Amino acid sequence: MRNIDFKNQLNEWRHYLHMHPESAFEERNTSEYLAKALTDMGLEVHKNIGETGIVANLTIGDGKGIIGLRADMDAINLTEKGQHLYSSQNPGKMHACGHDGHMTTLLGAAKLLSERKNFNGTVRFIFQPAEEPGKGAMAMMDDKLFERFPVDEIYGMHNMPQLPAGTIWTKVGGIMASEDNFVIRIKGKGAHASAPHIGVDPLVIAAEIILALQTIVSRNVNPIDTAVVSCTEIHTDGIRNAIPTNVEIKGDTRSFTPEVQKLIEDRMKRICEGICDFYGAECQFEYTHEFSPTLNWEKCTEIAAQAARNIVGDENVNANCDPMMSSEDFGTFLQRIPGCLVFLGGANSDNKNDVIPLHNSLYDYNDSILETGAEFFAEIVRIRLSK
Ligand SMILES: [Zn+2]
Ligand SMILES: [Zn+2]
Repeated sequence: MRNIDFKNQLNEWRHYLHMHPESAFEERNTSEYLAKALTDMGLEVHKNIGETGIVANLTIGDGKGIIGLRADMDAINLTEKGQHLYSSQNPGKMHACGHDGHMTTLLGAAKLLSERKNFNGTVRFIFQPAEEPGKGAMAMMDDKLFERFPVDEIYGMHNMPQLPAGTIWTKVGGIMASEDNFVIRIKGKGAHASAPHIGVDPLVIAAEIILALQTIVSRNVNPIDTAVVSCTEIHTDGIRNAIPTNVEIKGDTRSFTPEVQKLIEDRMKRICEGICDFYGAECQFEYTHEFSPTLNWEKCTEIAAQAARNIVGDENVNANCDPMMSSEDFGTFLQRIPGCLVFLGGANSDNKNDVIPLHNSLYDYNDSILETGAEFFAEIVRIRLSK
């Protein structure tokens, strides 16, 4: 296949996917489209894994090695403001996180590998649903993904528009944070605003809790570790001249290790319950794990970095980049399977101030990095399953 044809094919796939975005666990048309493209390449395609997920297998030779390559499929619930020939046709949905580009990249890698046949073993192309809510990886695993389709290692990529186009960034260990959510319900005793002495004011208690929670990162977490505790919402009964009975505080925490996650949860619970008890209010503390931290395995990170250097050159690879405090569902796979996530730079402007960030209603995946991503994945396979 000529290079120009390959580029055109990538653009065609990406623009189709961009035009038809579907959100978490609803990626049915997306799934059909991918399955058809993969079947046309001669791959063995398995559908409906974790609802709408797909695994496509490509075996060359008799090698025993198995490499998993993963892309995410879901769009987000946002109305696209950009004007393209291929703008979203599904109202209120758009590929603002670039998962259209990730799917295309993986299709591209499948195309390259199915034509080159330059490896000996099996590649599994894993298309996972519902990355945005952090539920798709587990849904596929609950559907026996790795029992049915074992892999030795797994690799993933996320585009990053704030990094120069065509550069590849990764690091050993925590590259993206965990995300936990919390709800603190404080029940006091409502009273007339003029008579606080006969009530129990949950708003004053909430204020104290919000401040005290900030001591977890500054006083409990080891300064060498990284963590964030953010209260992001506060709701009351909503009457101006009454002390409320109920206050609800919501928020989110981030960290890079299960130990720090546990420490934050335990300290939060004690602080909330302790302060409420002290003031005679009831406390209900709810804490949920939304995303695991994404922890890159050392050996796989070296392989990813080597593949990256071979494709984009030493000067365009940073194998010890700063981690990001946002979260990625790929981390769930890495808790079980050795692997590595990389960032692929996709800056859509040379001027930093003009770069359109992920999750922005004007976001549009940079088509110029599709081929780089596909070659990067194909190179990992060539290195790991060398003949
Ligand atoms: Zn996203
Ligand atoms: Zn994303």
